[in-house]
Amino acid sequence: MIRIKFYGAAGTVTGSMHLVQLPDMKFLVDAGYFQGTYEDRNGQSLEELKDVPYLFLTHAHLDHVGRLPILVRDGFRGTIITHRATWALARYILEDAYNVMEEDEKLYTMKDLRNTFRLPVKLVQYDHEYSIGDLKFRVRDAGHILGSAFFEFEYRGRRFTFSGDLGNEGKPIVRDPTMPSKTDVLIVESTYGNREHRPFEESAEELREAIFSTLDKGKVLIPSFALERAQEILYVFKEWEEQNKWKKGWRVILDSPLAARILTEYLNFPECYDRETFEKFIRSNPMQPRSLTITMSRGASRRLNSIEKGISIIAGSGMLTGGRSIHHLRHMIENPDNAIIFVGYQAKGTLGRKLVDGEQKVWINDRFYDVNLKIYTINGFSSHAGRDTLLRWIDHADPDSVIIVHGEDEEREALEEGILDRKKRNTARPLLEEELEL
Ligand SMILES: [Zn+2]
Repeated sequence: MIRIKFYGAAGTVTGSMHLVQLPDMKFLVDAGYFQGTYEDRNGQSLEELKDVPYLFLTHAHLDHVGRLPILVRDGFRGTIITHRATWALARYILEDAYNVMEEDEKLYTMKDLRNTFRLPVKLVQYDHEYSIGDLKFRVRDAGHILGSAFFEFEYRGRRFTFSGDLGNEGKPIVRDPTMPSKTDVLIVESTYGNREHRPFEESAEELREAIFSTLDKGKVLIPSFALERAQEILYVFKEWEEQNKWKKGWRVILDSPLAARILTEYLNFPECYDRETFEKFIRSNPMQPRSLTITMSRGASRRLNSIEKGISIIAGSGMLTGGRSIHHLRHMIENPDNAIIFVGYQAKGTLGRKLVDGEQKVWINDRFYDVNLKIYTINGFSSHAGRDTLLRWIDHADPDSVIIVHGEDEEREALEEGILDRKKRNTARPLLEEELEL
């Protein structure tokens, strides 16, 4: 008998955490942080999970690793099982999450964080087979961000697969997601369960047009996740330079110390690149355009406020929930010569989502601001598989049962419909903290 309890990613795109209970062992898949919806649950006690001996991490995004120090705070001392790139990147993500929490709102201490990185770790490789007792598992490339994985488990003849987050096809840097093997039960994400992305090339062209039409008179803000998205955007800027499309004097500013550190870390994992990125990497860093300036200090970041045109600022956070993107937005938002370009998912309840939804006035920090700057939303940069890819990927795994997680309700329902249109399968859309028997 296999049971799964959903501690997150049920009815939301964040906070992914699943407890798998087998007759003779248990383990967790991910320990993600809630962002936007359910955020107030992040600090909740996880003491009931302290004796779980293993935690599989699919990838280093905060909504998959962010509650790990909280597990540690509550006594967890299990072994982490993950790809080495994920473990390297998780350190940056968790340290940053700790640093951005206000002193009186910290959910765990520095000691908890240090203890997190003293946990025993088993680093695993793509396509290798491993086992713990009767549990066998394989780690496959999810093509979502550097080091991202999905896990194929087999326990006493029963197969079950956790998709983690699946990647979008045709993206630079990472490879396309690997197609899964046949499984009995599939636990699958559904972030874009109801829609397709535009192809990446078209989206890059859209981005180019939005930027090029702004920089002569104004400046551009690109709120970006520090991990993967920022590096990908830089990759595209570098391509424009190589194709002689970039105008002399324009600059791209990476105003995110976190993204800058991750950029350096990315150079340590060329084995995770797709072929094109690898070939470029042999000649030079494919994510470092010549016109790039990296601003590490707060002072350097603030000085960007006095520059009125010709710069594109890449800054966190990606959904405008904090970080340097907020102070840039306050300076730029009331000037129609400026533009903000969203290249990532904007979760419900975030400032980013409000702008995307067309609100005319928004509250930032201490007052309302008129939204006068141009707003672009470009969805082809998403690192999540679109609906077609998800459905094809599910067909490939050909499960008897599909458990749909990691999507808002509308997306989960739409994906469920798509699955059932193609073939009769059992489906479930569990609620938060619900338990299911496989
Ligand atoms: Zn992710």
